[in-house]
Amino acid sequence: MWEAEALAEAVLSPEPEPALMAALSGKRLLITAGPTLEDLDPVRFLGNRSSGRMGYAIAAQARALGMQVTLISGPVNLPVPTGVTHIAVRSAQQMHQATLSRAAQADVFIASAAVADFRPQQRSASKIKKHGDNNLTLKLVQNPDILADVAALEDSRPFVLGFAAETDDLVRNALDKLQRKRLDMIAANRVGQDDCGFDADCNALSVFWPGGQADIGRSSKAEVARQLLALLAQRLQEKLA
Ligand code: C5P
Repeated sequence: MWEAEALAEAVLSPEPEPALMAALSGKRLLITAGPTLEDLDPVRFLGNRSSGRMGYAIAAQARALGMQVTLISGPVNLPVPTGVTHIAVRSAQQMHQATLSRAAQADVFIASAAVADFRPQQRSASKIKKHGDNNLTLKLVQNPDILADVAALEDSRPFVLGFAAETDDLVRNALDKLQRKRLDMIAANRVGQDDCGFDADCNALSVFWPGGQADIGRSSKAEVARQLLALLAQRLQEKLA
């Protein structure tokens, strides 16, 4: 087993570190990415502003570090990283089913998808037409929380990392989610304030785990993904020790 200092160095190093590869190589990663789309009728849907780039960057870096990666993705415009098993889904319910049926076989689960919290109670079989009163009321029902359900697994629970995209109270909301969803780690990013984060090629993260915290400075999503995996490797080693 590699020492904590060697893994800590890997967080800062631009090169794939032997310690990082040794900690992650062969481990099975299940990761969700992209938005989910919730159909209203054959031509309309409710969705999220998510490019999927952060999740795809993590999947690519994890594969480069020797992990066996299964990527469950909502509709995005990105190439599937080489060597990654890709499962395409559309709705939150499909993503939930695809994830929960595989989670117990994973060593690590990362939830980077922007899952729609609600879906239309009914999907209309034909295109919804305009009506005379100029209003339309949609009834929405809540989607399952994929991340919380994986974290609540009693048997063969993987190490669980969630994301928190926040506009306000970043630290408080991230710590609240870490506790409430019973996660091993949470990566929080501020959205809506500059051109970095949501729907962009760069990111910066504050990462929290029970009893610790680290910041990953503004960088490309590939570099942020690598540093995040190095932090995850440290925590994983501690948990397995
Ligand atoms: O509570 P909130 O939606 O902000 O939590 C964000 C985290 O939870 C992300 O990791 C996201 O992928 C995950 N999530 C999920 N299923 C949901 C909602 C969010 O997996 N239905």
